[in-house]
Amino acid sequence: MRHQHPFDDDKLREECGVFGVIGVTDAASFTALGLHALQHRGQEAGGIITHQEGSGFHSAHRFGYVRDNFTKANVIEALPGPIGIGHVRYSTTGTKGPTAMRDVQPFFGEFAMGGAAIAHNGNLTNAEALRRELIERGSIFQSSSDSECIIHLMARSIQKTIPERMKDALRRVEGAFSIVAMTRTKLIGVRDALGVRPLVLGRVGEGWVLASETCALDIIGAEFIREIDPGEMVVIAKDGVESHHPFEPQRPRFCIFEHVYFSRPDSMLGGRSVYETRRAIGVELAREAPVEADLVCPVPDSGTPAAIGYSQQAGIPFAMGIIRNQYVGRTFIEPTEQIRDMGVRLKLNVNRALIRGKRIVLVDDSVVRGTTSLKIKQMILDAGAAEVHFRIASPPTSWPCFYGVDTPERDKLLASRMSEDEMRDHIGVDSLRFISLDGLYRAAGEAGGRDQAAPQYCDACFSGDYPVRPSDMIDNGRLTVRQSA
Ligand code: SF4
Repeated sequence: MRHQHPFDDDKLREECGVFGVIGVTDAASFTALGLHALQHRGQEAGGIITHQEGSGFHSAHRFGYVRDNFTKANVIEALPGPIGIGHVRYSTTGTKGPTAMRDVQPFFGEFAMGGAAIAHNGNLTNAEALRRELIERGSIFQSSSDSECIIHLMARSIQKTIPERMKDALRRVEGAFSIVAMTRTKLIGVRDALGVRPLVLGRVGEGWVLASETCALDIIGAEFIREIDPGEMVVIAKDGVESHHPFEPQRPRFCIFEHVYFSRPDSMLGGRSVYETRRAIGVELAREAPVEADLVCPVPDSGTPAAIGYSQQAGIPFAMGIIRNQYVGRTFIEPTEQIRDMGVRLKLNVNRALIRGKRIVLVDDSVVRGTTSLKIKQMILDAGAAEVHFRIASPPTSWPCFYGVDTPERDKLLASRMSEDEMRDHIGVDSLRFISLDGLYRAAGEAGGRDQAAPQYCDACFSGDYPVRPSDMIDNGRLTVRQSA
């Protein structure tokens, strides 16, 4: 059974993390550790597939946290071999609501030249059209996931090897994908031509690792080698790493929200520390939206680095005015109505002695529906704050993401319905300011801000400027968008 905490309901969520390793004695243990480090990218379910010469492919798919499932000796022992891949997921596009086990990745396909498993982070924007076409031509789908289209497209390819079939398949899909795949003897990593979602390459002993983020390399003591380039496919075997470029080159458009919120602060993205970028966002925010106040407090944990930056730039003391209870997890008992009404208090509590009588700057990473902001404001006022000023480390989120991040429908996004001033009045705070899109770009290392003619990042959830046409949504009349060149 899944338990969605009310506090978590008001965040955008990364939908997946991927990991793969080759050339180690015990790929399953490495993969379990890597997935544990990537747990923030998906907490609903996880899976691992390994291959051992002689006994073939082995797989385990489970609901819940990696630590609760893949630390058990009997599970890991049933996944032998020197090569393995894994996946953690929040949800896929196909199944909203409770996840079905058949949607838990990695997926496996048996081809004429042998088996292959794939794990996908991202979201395909033409998956509905592809699925209709494939079903008409006789494909039998096992899951409701967009990622399964890739397996069926590979099955229909006439190429002789699995990497070549994968290239064929991926040339047909649109959208965002960072994929880790494996055959009996090879580990494969691919990023879409825009490089929307991250994927990195590392070295562990004589072996190689692919992972969504560098924090998954750190946990197994692997050395970071490089990022997989946008549009690149790497095929890794005993004799090393081969690099292929199967797609038309395009200007990269990495997801800027990975810098703001999704990635772990101890990861490196594009050669930059995520923590440092978040601190720099706070510095920009303090320049753009100064205010007289007594304390700068983060909404923990994700607002903390930006709050530190804001405090440093503004010269206002930093304080932990809100304390997060680390132990409220998904395993919390099915809440009764009375407990559910406590809402955010289950997870966050105000440090009353600190707050009373003070003018507080509260720094949060984003405003999605605005429901959490309302509750936090009330908690701070109840604790006796003299003034509450919200500062948000991302621009207003007014468009849904179709590239692997779970966002509410457009009309549920507060910023799609209200101006900044209207949001301030709705939340009921003394002031509310978001960082500008240019300010965010500067903090992410683009000194000149956003290049309007050729944006350096995907920022569609802020700008509505979609680098890949969300075809399924548009074709079904569910969305009207403008799209950048
Ligand atoms: S729309 Fe937003 S969350 Fe989605 S990939 Fe683009 S920047 Fe990231």
